[in-house]
Amino acid sequence: MKRTTALLVLLLGVAGIAAPAITPTPWRYGVFYWVGEVPEHPEAYVNMATNWVDRVFAFWGLTPLPGPTVDWRNPQEISANSQEEARLVLSPDFSPAGVVVPGPEAGTFWAVPSLLLRELEINPLTLVVFPAIGELQTSLCAFNWAGAFFRHPPSSERLALLDSPVAAVLREIGGPAILLPVIGRPPMTSQDYFMSILAHEIGHWATLVWAEGHGLDMAGMTGLLIEGLAEYTEFTLSFGEPDRHRAAPVSLHPVAAVWAQRGGGLADAPNELIHAVGLSLVDFLVRKHYLFGNVLRLLPSFLEDWNARLAEWEGEWREWLRGEVPPWAPVRTRLLVEKVFYVASLVEPLFPNAWDVVRGTTAEEDVAWFWASISGPPPTPTPDALQKLRERECVFRLAAQREGVPPEVREQAQEILARLDQHWEAGDWDAYAATYLEAVLTQLKPAQSPEGIP
Ligand SMILES: [Zn+2]
Repeated sequence: MKRTTALLVLLLGVAGIAAPAITPTPWRYGVFYWVGEVPEHPEAYVNMATNWVDRVFAFWGLTPLPGPTVDWRNPQEISANSQEEARLVLSPDFSPAGVVVPGPEAGTFWAVPSLLLRELEINPLTLVVFPAIGELQTSLCAFNWAGAFFRHPPSSERLALLDSPVAAVLREIGGPAILLPVIGRPPMTSQDYFMSILAHEIGHWATLVWAEGHGLDMAGMTGLLIEGLAEYTEFTLSFGEPDRHRAAPVSLHPVAAVWAQRGGGLADAPNELIHAVGLSLVDFLVRKHYLFGNVLRLLPSFLEDWNARLAEWEGEWREWLRGEVPPWAPVRTRLLVEKVFYVASLVEPLFPNAWDVVRGTTAEEDVAWFWASISGPPPTPTPDALQKLRERECVFRLAAQREGVPPEVREQAQEILARLDQHWEAGDWDAYAATYLEAVLTQLKPAQSPEGIP
């Protein structure tokens, strides 16, 4: 046992040397980490984040705003072999709600103090900033993510299964964390992108803090509600509250309207639609009860019997979303439901025009063209493409190992991984590319293109 541990420490240590630099900066609400190079004006991003936390917390009624319990500018630095050891050095004076995180040098840790919200001591927040979306997706093996919020990173199943150097650092971070890139996808400017992702993820943090303050567990809330609350926070703080008298619900929630009009419900919205449907639900509730604050006041009682409430609201919500949807809405809904955006990121190294095909899809029937355009046989991959495909294999490793994945899918993923390894070692790149594509199609393509959505 001991030898294995020593070997692991050695391996992780060696991996650590090759890792991109991860630089911490103290922050009023916790700590920032910059992955890779620190951007030219880091204070601009720190200020944006402070500003958004202030606005989001005020929107959620979490005021007076939480403040640091001690001077946050000079976090106490501890030299220790592990986080546990650093915590032992700090105890008993260090609050359990404070977090101990990796410091600027290997073998150093920072004691980041807890925050005080009225009488409630809460965890500080860790913000991990990646230079661009590609780095975030590769480090987390999340090719369909724009950003992320973790309640307690060390317990996250995904992080436990990843071996990227950034994941190793993330595992060491206690308390809630937000991961986001400086540069996202065009056409948004990097600042717009950073801000909108940040508003959404801080909405999740506010939900967590709000739930704690009400003796509730955020883990007990459904994804539909969690994403709906974050989307509503982002939407309202970015664009102002929807004009309830003039804007028709269907024009604000076109994807949710397509879903509702085709018989989809609140409880059965697929994962790919929970952001859109969740946003429509929260907006529906705000209009029903006049203010977001009123919905928050009622939420604890809603949560006692959530499924019954959803069933009760569904008819009225569907009626509320009646009306003509814009022509692009059914196309977008279908692209989402069929995971086309995700699949396009996975096959892009093989089919560089995959995104153009997605962008060029203007009619629902044309979604079939996307699947036809990537049905192979794939071209011989370039060395650069091979590298990218190899990185994306982690998607199947996660499928092969994660709990909750159906056994047949796990077995299929294991079998595919074995074949990918064989072809890789034999240097048979055509067979490798064909197997990779087969893996994407068998694991992610919907079983049949349905007539109506779902
Ligand atoms: Zn979210």
